[in-house]
Amino acid sequence: MLFNGVISSNAMKSWTVEAASMPDGSQVELAGWVWDVREVGKIRFIILKDREGVIQLTVKKGDVPQSVWEAAAGLVKEDVILVKGVVKASRIAKSGVEVIPSELRILNKSKPLPIDIWGNVAQTELDARLRYRIVDLKRPESLVIFKASSAAARAIRESLYDRGFIEVFTPKIISTSTEGGADLFPVQYFDVVAYLAQSPQLYKEELTASLERVFEIGPAYRAEKHSTTYHLNEFISVDLEAAFMNYRDVMSILEDVIINVYSRILQVPGVVDMNKEISVPKKPFAVVSYDDALEMLGKKGINVRWGDDIPKEGLEALTGEVGSPFFLVNFPTSLRAFYTMPVEGDPSRSESFDLVIDGVEIVSGATRIHDRKLLENALISRGLNPANFESHLAAYEWGMPPHAGWGLGFYRLLMVMLRRSNIREVVLFPRDRNRLTP
Ligand code: ATP
Ligand code: MG
Repeated sequence: MLFNGVISSNAMKSWTVEAASMPDGSQVELAGWVWDVREVGKIRFIILKDREGVIQLTVKKGDVPQSVWEAAAGLVKEDVILVKGVVKASRIAKSGVEVIPSELRILNKSKPLPIDIWGNVAQTELDARLRYRIVDLKRPESLVIFKASSAAARAIRESLYDRGFIEVFTPKIISTSTEGGADLFPVQYFDVVAYLAQSPQLYKEELTASLERVFEIGPAYRAEKHSTTYHLNEFISVDLEAAFMNYRDVMSILEDVIINVYSRILQVPGVVDMNKEISVPKKPFAVVSYDDALEMLGKKGINVRWGDDIPKEGLEALTGEVGSPFFLVNFPTSLRAFYTMPVEGDPSRSESFDLVIDGVEIVSGATRIHDRKLLENALISRGLNPANFESHLAAYEWGMPPHAGWGLGFYRLLMVMLRRSNIREVVLFPRDRNRLTP
């Protein structure tokens, strides 16, 4: 019998974990999904699952009202149920307690699921898992990932609020490119073509002239035709910008943020099972200059021309040499975006850095140029037309402070922390070249 009434007349349901620590004899109200059902003689064992865990319901004929015994008979996996009952200590139940229901309502029935959520799914099935993501999210492992994701976002906010940053929200529909380049998604904006923002870069820099220390956690869109395990066309970027700081200052803040994120997600149950080697990194992180990195790589037979990007295999080799995480600093100015500050007295190199964890680029940052003339020249040297950046350049006339900042790929950080081999695993509904639904 399907129940269509009010779930509870008094309080909210308890979580299964709360019930597991209640004293023997407590009255409890639980709601969730049937994870498993077993019948042994005159006893029906139902494993009830919610976001936080599982608990055993023991339905023994004669010990429970006849209506409960009957409702328990037709249950199948993933049926949604509401239970009122008494908590009882149990030597056999996994959590150490069982619940003896006095009331059992079926809130909704489930059909057989299109994918297996009970076994250990192999990597090769990721496509099917993403196709049926709503169902895949019921897997205990998926729940751990998205609880870790929430804990990580919270830890970032916590660290930054503590350090005097305020959270801002900049537009995601923009009129021109942030950095030049063609990697933009056009959108029809009434009578004109606009674009999805690839980064909040220019806005956050402008904000340092008033709000001083800002950060944003929001989506970034890149129309790059990648098909790697660590690129998506929509990702969450954690962006920070601070007035009166240089790249070393924001690197130090980044270390604190990373350390806090690791500490917080280690407290999420299940994370350690997912990455047995996870540990909180220690300050200070190793720092390697781009020039030294090229020399180290050359000795290992990986030759990178000065001025070229260090490929993934190079980042992996460097991780082997110096450990993880590590900072790569002072990239060739020509390799970085136009707003990057050149090193004083050595303008071919820049006050820039990347943070690499487990061989993956997680963050890019730099001291920024705050002088209008220098910025115009930097645009021109990259073949960009300053006229297209006029509204941004104007900001530099009205008291632009020296500033620095970084952009952190949130999903990449989660991916390395949780040792997932594909970034898509840590994204609810990933957007890549071949995936626009679900
Ligand atoms: P890559 O060289 O790996 O493509 P990038 O240097 O172009 O990255 P940045 O512009 O420096 O990327 O962006 C800042 C951070 O955002 C990166 O360090 C990375 O963690 C993340 N990021 C960038 N592009 C993507 C993407 N397509 N998918 C997921 N994360 C990304
Ligand atoms: Mg980068």
